[in-house]
Amino acid sequence: MVLLCAGSLWSDDEVLVVSPILKRVLYPWLANSGYLRRRADGGSFCVVTYHGVLPESYQVSDPQQDGSLVSAENFRSQLRLLKECYHVVSPEQVRDWIVDGKDLPELAILLTCDDGLRNALTDMAPILREEQLSCLFFVLGASVAQIPQMLWYEELYLLLLAAPAGSYSFDALGMNVELGDRAQRRSAWWNVLKKLSRYDQATRAGFIEASRIKFRLPERWNAGCHDDEGQRRRFSLLNADDLRQLVAQGMSVGSHTLNHPILSQQSSELAWREISESRTLLENAIGKPVWALAYPFGDPDSVTTREIQMAEQAGFQCAFMNIGGGFGAQLPRFALPRVHVTAEMNLSEFEAHVSGFHRDFRSRLSRDAP
Ligand SMILES: [Zn+2]
Repeated sequence: MVLLCAGSLWSDDEVLVVSPILKRVLYPWLANSGYLRRRADGGSFCVVTYHGVLPESYQVSDPQQDGSLVSAENFRSQLRLLKECYHVVSPEQVRDWIVDGKDLPELAILLTCDDGLRNALTDMAPILREEQLSCLFFVLGASVAQIPQMLWYEELYLLLLAAPAGSYSFDALGMNVELGDRAQRRSAWWNVLKKLSRYDQATRAGFIEASRIKFRLPERWNAGCHDDEGQRRRFSLLNADDLRQLVAQGMSVGSHTLNHPILSQQSSELAWREISESRTLLENAIGKPVWALAYPFGDPDSVTTREIQMAEQAGFQCAFMNIGGGFGAQLPRFALPRVHVTAEMNLSEFEAHVSGFHRDFRSRLSRDAP
């Protein structure tokens, strides 16, 4: 992971030199000396975001794409660190704090997990239960269907990786893409993802199927994602029964919209449906209020003032970004920052993010850069 990324004035080369020093020298030293813990003291609230736990039987095939999911071992060590040095609170305590002004303990940490992949239930929830902790899972309205589904943009990514090399024109999107090495395919994927976000889910599904035919791939080109247990846990979305199981195990459910588009790319009508209908669908499926929203992608390019206002108008009590975070961050109720945990984070780096040190250090470096 690039530690000093969006918004930094540092060049990529400088980042590559600085990141390993922070990761292997500075952060471990600050963590071992107890500085990070002392620095967080007096902080009120920090939210961490996961995207799942890698199933043991799953072979990582793309470190970038799989890098949002953490290993079971890292997840357990991070939870134990948080339990030992901070106060991990339940989602309900956070709701009561936001809605009714009830107190939270000092150094309160909320655990969240986005996307609602199957491993949330099969690999993540068992560890949370062992550690007697609860997590707020942000899932898609699409999860309410009983048929197995994938995130559309992950299916698109796998499709672009599977396509034979060449130049392709996508007339419906007014785009030509070049599919060569992995970096080129990744960049093509992001450009197509942005354009497809403008449409509804049926149009996206139609585009993916038409592209499969254009690429001359067989109908069951990604059968492994459904047939192989490791891949199913990695890629499949939870269904309605799974959501109810999560709730029965003491977990909470929030909305991550209906289908996970880049909301800022959509018309107001589509963005409103994504935000408001997801809440109703999920409430009906789990029989409980859904009071929190996490914006898909959750960065300033995908979340504008319009989405923030919609979240409030749709009846959510709060909404979460997927950037910033750590103790000492500002806490706008409908744009709450979160620490995004990735596979590559070692334990001291994780604590540097949680304590707020990483955020402040990065913004100081950006300010001081020539
Ligand atoms: Zn997401």
